[in-house]
Amino acid sequence: AKGSGRNQFQFFSEELNRTTHERLEIEAAIDDALEKNEFEVYYQPQLNLATGKIESCEALIRWNHAKKGLLAPGEFISVAEESGHIDAIGRWVLRRVAADFAEFSAAGFSNMRLAVNVSSPQMRVIDFAAFVAAVVAEHKIPAGCLELEVTESMLMSDTEQAIATISSLTAQGVRFSIDDFGTGYSSLSYLRSLKIHHLKIDRSFVADVISDPDDATIVRAIISLAHSLRLTAIAEGVESEQQLQFLKDEGCDMVQGYLLARPMPLADCIQFAKSYGKG
Ligand code: C2E
Ligand code: CA
Ligand code: CA
Ligand code: CA
Repeated sequence: AKGSGRNQFQFFSEELNRTTHERLEIEAAIDDALEKNEFEVYYQPQLNLATGKIESCEALIRWNHAKKGLLAPGEFISVAEESGHIDAIGRWVLRRVAADFAEFSAAGFSNMRLAVNVSSPQMRVIDFAAFVAAVVAEHKIPAGCLELEVTESMLMSDTEQAIATISSLTAQGVRFSIDDFGTGYSSLSYLRSLKIHHLKIDRSFVADVISDPDDATIVRAIISLAHSLRLTAIAEGVESEQQLQFLKDEGCDMVQGYLLARPMPLADCIQFAKSYGKG
């Protein structure tokens, strides 16, 4: 028993070391990756169920790692958030998306709305609003075409700073979505004080909407809450025709998910949007 206890200890400490080592490795590699331009933005189309058109897309970062191949954000975003690298990555993403807007526009989608994910450490940087405003101005993004996705927990933990930042940006025509709605804090008071445009129904609710009556109830409630507040409801993670039908029946405004399309490179997304016709 003694022996196995020691082995177990060794096992855990090796695991810890490996994790710490990996994190340090990722941290060091992020700066390098920014310099070498290894990050890429993929776009996942969102279908407007009322018009049948693709009028918006979510920007999702990827890392074209020289050795490890294409990495999803799950492999580096949390390390970047904890190490402070997320600010540089976030600025890169915003500039990239703003530049890509011109490509959508040139393809005839001059009102395409592009949604960018923002983590809380980014919002806490004092000049965040000014930075976003400068990028929007530089790239002549029309009002309403840039959307920022924030989470409930972000709004609850940095209330004053978040309210100031969001108010300043909404005044300039930037739109906000609450991402993963329903999974964070249960206080809804921020919906009163902030000018939010969309609630994104978390895919954990959408996943079991057909099989679990409780999830169906929650999804209905979120759609109804959104509409009562004159907001748009977007369902994410839509993977089946049954889920899509349920969401249509319940009056959900927009859907996003593998059923429609996976996140893809800019050119592919533009082609995809074209197949639905111009907005
Ligand atoms: P999220 O904002 O909730 O993004 C949606 C995630 O769901 C994406 O994962 C997307 O590929 C995935 N997804 C879309 N449709 C489906 C579906 O039908 N089924 C399933 N199972 N999954 C689907 P991804 O691209 O790996 O991004 C993961 C998370 O990383 C995002 O979650 C977001 O929180 C974060 N993230 C992505 N890009 C950025 C970025 O540029 N900046 C920051 N700060 N965070 C980002
Ligand atoms: Ca998101
Ligand atoms: Ca989400
Ligand atoms: Ca999520």
